Amino acid sequence: MSYQIAIDGPAGAGKSTIAKKLAKAKKFIYVDTGAMYRAMAYYMLQNHIDPQNADAVAEKSQCADITIQYEKGEQAVLLNGENVNAFLRTEEVGNIASVTSQNPRVRERLTVLQKELAAKNNVVMDGRDIGTCVLPNADVKIYLTASPAVRAKRRYDELTAKGEECDLQKIEADIIKRDEQDMNREIAPLKQAEDAVLIDSSYMTIDQVVEEILAVSRKSMPDMGE
Ligand code: C5P
Repeated sequence: MSYQIAIDGPAGAGKSTIAKKLAKAKKFIYVDTGAMYRAMAYYMLQNHIDPQNADAVAEKSQCADITIQYEKGEQAVLLNGENVNAFLRTEEVGNIASVTSQNPRVRERLTVLQKELAAKNNVVMDGRDIGTCVLPNADVKIYLTASPAVRAKRRYDELTAKGEECDLQKIEADIIKRDEQDMNREIAPLKQAEDAVLIDSSYMTIDQVVEEILAVSRKSMPDMGE
C-alpha cells in the first residue's frame, strides 16, 4: 500500500509550492493534477477548439495522450510525447482549464491516470477533487485556502517577478470567476472533504504551512517518520 497526502483548494492558495516541499521532506513524488488539466486546455488552444463547445472538447480530448514523468524530481507533463511544461502556467491556459475541466470525458481520462500514479507511488497530490474523488481514502487530507485578495497578490508578484505585465484587479476578478466555476460545476466540484483539515494560509508563511501539514501527517502516518 502506498501513502497518500491530498491537498485541495482554490487557485493561488499556495498548493503547488507547499506540496513540492512536503514531497521533498517525505521523499514522496509530487503530482500536480492542475498541470494535467492545463495540458488538456493547452491542447484545445493549439487545436483552436472553443472551450465552451462541450461536444468538441469531449471529442478532441480523446486524442490527447497526457502522461507525466519525473526529471530530476520535477514533474514533466508530456502531451502526445512532447514536454509542454513551459506553456502551462499562463493565466490564459489556467482560465481555459477551468472551463474544459468541467467536461466529464476530460475528467474521466485524467482521474484514471492520477489514481494509477497514487497506487504505484507514495504521493503528495494537489488539485481540486483529490480528497473528495481521486483519493477518497488518502492518509492525510488538507483543504488549503486564503482570501481572494491575498491569492491575487501572490499571483501578481509571481508574474511580475517573471517580468510579465499584469493587472492586479484583473487577476483578482479572474481568480474569483475561476473559484466560482470550480466550486459550482456538476462533476467533482471544489469543496472541502468532510475529513480534511482546513488551513487558511492568508497570514502564514510557506514554511509554517508545511510544518503544520507535517504535524498532521506525523499523527496519521506515524510509521513514516518525518
Ligand atoms: O491548480 P491549477 O490552477 O493549475 O488548475 C487549473 C484548473 O484545472 C483549475 O482551475 C480547475 O478547473 C482544474 N483542475 C481540476 N481538478 C484538479 C486540478 C485542477 O478541475 N484536480
